[in-house]
Amino acid sequence: MLAEKFAREKEERLRRNKFQRRWYDREYQKEEQNIINDVEVKKKQYSSERSLNPPFDRDAWIPKTELGRKVKSGEISTLDEALKGGQLLEPEIIDFLLPEPLIKVVDVKKTTRITRAGRNYSFRVSAIVGDGNGHIGIGSGKAIEKLTAQEKAIQNAKLNMIYVKRGCGSWECNCSVEHSIPYKVVGKCASLRVELIPAPRGLGLAASNTIKPVFQLVGIQDIWSKTMGATDTDLNFIIATIDALHNLSKTKFQKYIDDEQSKNVDKTKYVLQDSSEKKAKESSIKEKNEKLKK
Ligand SMILES: [Zn+2]
Repeated sequence: MLAEKFAREKEERLRRNKFQRRWYDREYQKEEQNIINDVEVKKKQYSSERSLNPPFDRDAWIPKTELGRKVKSGEISTLDEALKGGQLLEPEIIDFLLPEPLIKVVDVKKTTRITRAGRNYSFRVSAIVGDGNGHIGIGSGKAIEKLTAQEKAIQNAKLNMIYVKRGCGSWECNCSVEHSIPYKVVGKCASLRVELIPAPRGLGLAASNTIKPVFQLVGIQDIWSKTMGATDTDLNFIIATIDALHNLSKTKFQKYIDDEQSKNVDKTKYVLQDSSEKKAKESSIKEKNEKLKK
């Protein structure tokens, strides 16, 4: 339609004079360029959407591991249960349990390898995957093409999913909503150190722009942060923050609770039994000593 309209107008204008013809041609070229650019932008959007979140066929999936079989049969229905055994071996488990994951491409780097024939280029892409409700994973992939590297990175990130403990540990705010972290924590990567501090409600993310998506994908709204070391390497910076979030669930107290749960013993009962046994032993020893003295 547009092309026809322009052609008709062009004929009319061409009759007039040379100056006007030149002006008109320039305008026509501009309009044409705009149309081409619009189409290209739409194509790029479509391709990025498709590659970031490819459709997953639930019925066609044939699980290879025992965990996968349990997930497909419905025995395991939540992410927390699936992550209890440690690292996952199949990315399809996350696809099955999380139909709409939040994905963000964090870092894209072009790498070169020099050979006899010349230079070989390849891409290293890293991405983070989260659910906005206390789970996050980071992974990277390498390939000659950028899109295939991206797909690899997302699959790898799904395998490295971890659970993040959230809470409200700020003394300025005493609510029971999980909007921040429960206590101060430190994470490391290379020479980089990241310290995360709980913040009151409504403060926002007081952190660098490079690590803000990590908190958005985990579901933390308020936090303070301190950094030491070289923060200009983006990937190390993000790995250090995720390490800090992972350290939240590495405390001794958490270990104690996990052990108790595995034994299926009530925590209070366990403690009382121990103390009562100890008291009984002590009293028996005292009685013996007293008898010996007499
Ligand atoms: Zn609070």
